[in-house]
Amino acid sequence: MKLNVNGLLIVISGPSGVGKSTVRKALFNKKGHNLIYSVSMTTRKPRDGEVDGVDYYFVSREEFERRIEEGKFLEYAEFVGNYYGTPKDIVEKKLDEGHEVVLEIEVEGALQVRKVMPEAVFIFLVPPGRQALYDRLLSRGTEDKSKIEERINKANREFLLAHKYDYIVVNDDVDNAADRIMAIIRAEHAKTERSIHQYMKLLGE
Ligand code: 5GP
Repeated sequence: MKLNVNGLLIVISGPSGVGKSTVRKALFNKKGHNLIYSVSMTTRKPRDGEVDGVDYYFVSREEFERRIEEGKFLEYAEFVGNYYGTPKDIVEKKLDEGHEVVLEIEVEGALQVRKVMPEAVFIFLVPPGRQALYDRLLSRGTEDKSKIEERINKANREFLLAHKYDYIVVNDDVDNAADRIMAIIRAEHAKTERSIHQYMKLLGE
């Protein structure tokens, strides 16, 4: 993918159960932004209240694997028995149009994006402590016990990868975490390598 001087890709990642989607939703509820959420594709069954095309594009394993072969994903990973992936064409189009696109994905996928789009902004969301993460996974009641254990084991391995990210944001409070992410996005926009082209245009150079 070519380097995009206008659009900004923001990758929000972190262990399962840290509250990525809650923080992402709080971020999108803030006023005065032009962020676009990239809806992922998954083979996981919809949970109660989840809507196809809003929370995820829900597809079969066969359909997902066909798309892998056709090279349709910017990244994808198998997570606790299901595939999850970011459709490439939509993200590319929105970045080309100059939009700010947000991905909310697990760690393996985030590291794949880092390889193909190193200019993206990588944010690692962490819980205020390990116990907070376990409590959250147990209390949300969306998975059975063995799946929860798998997610906890995976989270313990994922914690060790925080150093591969540009920013670490602690999810001690959803609104605070969303505010910090917004501040990061604003600061990234002002970075010289992102804003110099606009500035030169302003000067007529
Ligand atoms: P859940 O089943 O709880 O909705 O998601 C499981 C994990 O997959 C979460 O950590 C979530 O952030 C991650 N995930 C969601 N969409 C994608 C995606 O497109 N790619 C990757 N790699 N992970 C994703």
